[in-house]
Amino acid sequence: MSPTKEYALLCLENPLLGRFKPIIFHQNFPVRSALARALQIWPRGDNAILAEEKHLGIYEDLLNNYSAKLIAGGGAQNTARGAQYMLPPNSVVYLGGVGDDKYAAILHDAVKQAGLRVEYRVDKKEKTGRCGVVITGHHRSMCTDLGAANHYDLDHLKSPEVWKLVEGATHYFVGGYHLTVCPPAIMALAEEAAKNDKPFVFSLSAPFIPIAFKDALDATAPYWDYVIGNESEALSYAEAHGLETKDIKEIAKHLAALPKANKKRERVAIITQGTDPTVVATNGGVKEYAVHAIDGSQITDTTGAGDAFAAGFTAGLVAGAPLAQCVDQGQWLAKLSIQELGPSFPFPKQTY
Ligand code: ADP
Ligand code: MG
Ligand code: MG
Repeated sequence: MSPTKEYALLCLENPLLGRFKPIIFHQNFPVRSALARALQIWPRGDNAILAEEKHLGIYEDLLNNYSAKLIAGGGAQNTARGAQYMLPPNSVVYLGGVGDDKYAAILHDAVKQAGLRVEYRVDKKEKTGRCGVVITGHHRSMCTDLGAANHYDLDHLKSPEVWKLVEGATHYFVGGYHLTVCPPAIMALAEEAAKNDKPFVFSLSAPFIPIAFKDALDATAPYWDYVIGNESEALSYAEAHGLETKDIKEIAKHLAALPKANKKRERVAIITQGTDPTVVATNGGVKEYAVHAIDGSQITDTTGAGDAFAAGFTAGLVAGAPLAQCVDQGQWLAKLSIQELGPSFPFPKQTY
């Protein structure tokens, strides 16, 4: 791989602690308290929601009654850790908002171990964000209380120290969850990318994003050089935009063909589909890439598979790898990640 600049990749989203370690419930899991109430609103299948008042009890419940463990998380923070895993030291910097509490200290420790530089906006009044993950059979449900992550602002991004990192980076990665927090910060990065012909990578993040944050999402679309999502996110994009198709390849083609601000780069739309082939669309056409097969018995936890895919893929872009290799790196890193608990990567480090 070619050498990369210091902090070549700059990532922005919502840091969360406590991706509370997923717990496996079986069909007849105990139904109690806030957790049970929360589960009632989670339909079958993978889901991700923002916590409302009625869900807030779930975090203590997970910790106290189900011995859940704490893991550093947040989609793009996982992606940033994963990209740093594959790139030379000091390649990745991550921005987001945290509180001034012990949870923020745990996050700092976790990212330090991963060699990831973070520039957090610290909010004195709000708690560090939390994410509860519950696994029922093969499905996972996530419930996020954004806390201080919800108070990220343009002032932090534009502060001289942070903006210097923005100017120094060669690639940007933004997680779609940040649309719920600070679209102006996303737009500032997007415009900076287009103006300087730097690749802007965007993740759709969750099915609710194209529906509940459609206008904010659409404002970022012209700036996507690479847009990454999974099949549920592609389908919800199609539904929100009245595309009369449920064909993933057609949706990927549509995403690739949307109007583009930076005309010097052709857009690439990448849709992952779990164990099914990864779909990659450009204006030139659609290709499918079979995933790296792994025996079911080796899978520990698929939470964050998509974050890991985005990490390997983006690390490839930063290192100047061809598109097919970027996809392969994404699948390789995702395969490593699903053998660990939560969105983590094995140590000692494996090399691609
Ligand atoms: P998300 O986590 O966003 O739902 P996917 O489920 O599509 O994303 O997974 C992302 C990538 O992770 C896939 O393209 C694939 O490369 C890898 N992956 C996920 N699940 C498996 C699996 N069971 N076996 C092998 N690879 C997997
Ligand atoms: Mg999936
Ligand atoms: Mg995902």
